[in-house]
Amino acid sequence: MNVCSTRDERLQVPLSRALVEGIAADGGLYVPARLPAQAARAMASTATLDLLAQRLLAPFFEGDELAALLPAIATEAFDFPAPLRPVGGGAERLSILELYHGPTAAFKDFGARFLAACLARIPRPDPRALTILVATSGDTGGAVAAAFHRRPGFRVVLIYPAGRVSPLQERQLTCWDANVESFAVRGSFDDCQRLAKEAFRDGRLRDALPMSSANSINIGRLLAQITYFAAASLRIREAEGAIANFVLPSGNLGQAVACVWARELGLPIGEIVLAHNANRTVPDFLADGRWRPRPSIATIASAMDVGDPSNIERLRFLYRDHATMTARIRAVSIGDDAIRKGIQSEYRQSGLTLCPHSAAAAQAYRMLTDEERRDSHWVLVATAHPAKFQETVGPLLGRAIAPPPALARLLDRPVAREEIDANLDRLRERLLAA
Ligand SMILES: *Cc1c(COP(=O)(O)O)cnc(C)c1O
Repeated sequence: MNVCSTRDERLQVPLSRALVEGIAADGGLYVPARLPAQAARAMASTATLDLLAQRLLAPFFEGDELAALLPAIATEAFDFPAPLRPVGGGAERLSILELYHGPTAAFKDFGARFLAACLARIPRPDPRALTILVATSGDTGGAVAAAFHRRPGFRVVLIYPAGRVSPLQERQLTCWDANVESFAVRGSFDDCQRLAKEAFRDGRLRDALPMSSANSINIGRLLAQITYFAAASLRIREAEGAIANFVLPSGNLGQAVACVWARELGLPIGEIVLAHNANRTVPDFLADGRWRPRPSIATIASAMDVGDPSNIERLRFLYRDHATMTARIRAVSIGDDAIRKGIQSEYRQSGLTLCPHSAAAAQAYRMLTDEERRDSHWVLVATAHPAKFQETVGPLLGRAIAPPPALARLLDRPVAREEIDANLDRLRERLLAA
């Protein structure tokens, strides 16, 4: 299947080309030219994630040079689980979908590993290493570094805002060697994103280095993320004959797009509620139909500090008009105080230890009406392991949170931290010094 640009449906390319390019030539984002609505109707819930990914994603790879390699790609990428667990302590049917069992303990591992497995199998005529430049607010950078570390033919350069990521996230960004470099930029995440965009447009860099990106702009990450929404909803349908409603932490809307696409593919998904932090661009837009991007505000759910979410373009492409969009998704804004309260009350009530992002989703769930909670099976999406945000979660719960084994292994590695000014000349200098 070809994919097309959100800005021009006639601008179509094969999937593997979209994976390499990241962004469409006209500045739009790549989306499936059509969503095969029957793809998921008869799927069994018993399939493992990698088998499910193979079947679900096969139509998107049809006719592509990667089609025959999809089984190997899925097996390599989906080698850790996404457990769905019932949440006790209440009368409602609530489950938690834990997406943090990968190498860097956040859901970004799914997309990053899938994208890396795809890119590694696409032949490139250029013998020079492909430089993957990533602006990250925390979790993406670590996941991309882990996925590409020591992969021949790739070099990864991460830029992140100095002082605006959690200490553990920073370790994950700076603990690599060989083909991964990282720079703490004196500025905000918006500055990092601007810098990355300038670098991709810079003539001198483009002449000197083949470059690509791995931000959630890249359609490969989003396709991979469809898989766990599919797995969870199929499991619930099989166990209860029910449709699953999802409440998910949301920032740049990548998760939102993956969940919406899963529903379009025919999976048994009902309501989708997006929990944003104090960055209210999306909730405000759904309320009044006016798109007002703004500078991002720093919050304790920092991976969602996005004031101008780029994936809105994919939602607008799918839904065409505001009334359709508001009928199909909802969004709320959860401030830092409510997030802190959520971390404490979910721990007391349900025994859940949540990261700040997942706690925002839990608060959004608690804001639903009694009927809504009683009448449906809701899935609370947990996007990162709470140990990654120990400095926030630990004091609120009065105890230390042990990191999972994969994370603990990363913590033992030496780190190399380097700061640079938010300035293209500095970044270019570092990119060209290989
Ligand atoms: C990236 C991230 C989010 C936001 O996801 P989007 O796809 O950008 O909406 C939420 N929680 C965590 C832990 C993240 O790393």
